[in-house]
Formats: sequence, structure tokens, C-alpha cells
Amino acid sequence: MNIVLLGPPGAGKGTQAARLQAQRGMIQMSTGDMLREAVAQGSPVGLEAKAVMAAGELVSDAIVSALIGERLDAAGSNGAIFDGFPRTREQAEALDLLLAERGRSLDYVIELEVEEDALVERIAGRFSCARCGASYHDRFNLPRQQDLCDLCGSSEFVRRPDDNEQTVRRRMAEYRAKTEPILPYYEERGLVRRVDGMASVEQVAAQIDAILDS
Ligand code: ADP
Ligand code: ADP
Ligand code: ZN
Repeated sequence: MNIVLLGPPGAGKGTQAARLQAQRGMIQMSTGDMLREAVAQGSPVGLEAKAVMAAGELVSDAIVSALIGERLDAAGSNGAIFDGFPRTREQAEALDLLLAERGRSLDYVIELEVEEDALVERIAGRFSCARCGASYHDRFNLPRQQDLCDLCGSSEFVRRPDDNEQTVRRRMAEYRAKTEPILPYYEERGLVRRVDGMASVEQVAAQIDAILDS
């Protein structure tokens, strides 16, 4: 099973992708995480992406599609969850090609429907595990045990430099202008399923499970 999680910044894509990876052995493919890794390493891709990400704009289609291509072979038979990719029509077409080359295809595109007003608050309170990337929230989604990651037990957490209000607004505008318009591309093929992303983390998880198990 290969699925795409689609939704604006703060919709809950990373939270749900990490859970699916932990519970179903699917592989989380987050281009945001891959790019942050590249920035931290100071690789050529990271050097190119750093300022673009800080501005809340989109990194080039060629770079992110290449990152996904490199990792796709690591996704075993349990499939992949694409989180934050594709973000443009060009990336959607690149993904289809990358999957087809491996005899695979998309099963579902799950759109997390959220109210934009709630997203700034979600993003302002977001922090994540420094080791495994699991996403938490100061109010909505604290680790079960204080200061210990639910998924990997690490006690080190980080906050993203681009999680500030100004950059968030820019990222939302990018989503509306470039990412939302790819929905019809998937709708034509009957792949889109909608989920109420304003529900609790557990309720969103239950809605996604119902789709995957249908
Ligand atoms: P969020 O979790 O807020 O949706 P991400 O972690 O997915 O954000 O992405 C953070 C930043 O990384 C984006 O604002 C963008 O600059 C860059 N980025 C991530 N994925 C892509 C992509 N598929 N195409 C272009 N840029 C991307
Ligand atoms: P995305 O990957 O789409 O940018 P995240 O999964 O990182 O979004 O979630 C953004 C923030 O909102 C995180 O702090 C996360 O813990 C929190 N969050 C995720 N899902 C929900 C939810 N259903 N209700 C409330 N907060 C949530
Ligand atoms: Zn962790």
C-alpha cells in the first residue's frame, strides 16, 4: 500500500505518518525531514534548500523528486506514506513515474481537511523528537511520559526555525497556490479520501485506519 497524506502545514501529516510507520511497518517519506537532514549536514542540497525553507517557499521539484527517488527502494513491501510530497503538479507526475518504474502505484491520497485559523496555533506549539522526528504539541499532543518520546524513548526535542507566524503564512499561501491544485489530478483517478483533520489525533488516526482497512 502506498499513500499520500495531503494538507497544509500543521494539518497533522507528520503525526499520522509516524504513527502509520510505527503501527504498520510502512515507511514514512517526508521530504521536509529529508531536507532538514540535508541542511543539518551542510550537503550541496542542504546549502541550496536552507534559505528557501527559511522563507517558507518551495524547494525545486528536481531536488525533492530526486530525494524521494533515492529513498524509494528502501521502502519495503509494506509500502510508503508520502508526507509533504508531492507539493506541485510536477512532483505528482514525478511520483507516478518513480512508482511505475518499480511496478508500484498509489492506493490513496488522504486529504486532511483543517481550518486555517487553527494551524498557526498548532504550528506555534509544535516540537518534535530530535532522534526519530515524531511530532508533539505543547497543548494538544504531549508525550505520554513527560520529556520522553512515545515512539523511540529519546529525551531530546527540537523546534523548527521556520515555525514562526510570518513563515507559516507564506507556507500556507504556497499550499493554496501550488499544492491544493493537484487534488483534481488525483480525483480523476478516484484516489482521494477526505478526513476531518480538526478532530483529535486519535480520531484522525481512526478515520485513516478505516480507509486503509476498507
Ligand atoms: P510542514 O510540516 O509544515 O508541512 P514540511 O516539513 O513538509 O512542512 O516542509 C518544510 C519546508 O521544506 C517547506 O516549507 C519547503 O520549503 C520544504 N519542502 C518540504 N517538502 C517539499 C516539497 N515536496 N517540495 C518543495 N519544498 C518542500
Ligand atoms: P504537518 O506534518 O502536517 O505539518 P504535524 O503532524 O507536525 O503537521 O502537526 C502540527 C502540530 O499539531 C504538532 O505539534 C502536532 O503535535 C499537532 N497536531 C497534529 N495533529 C493534531 C490534531 N488532530 N489535533 C491537535 N493537534 C494536532
Ligand atoms: Zn522519537
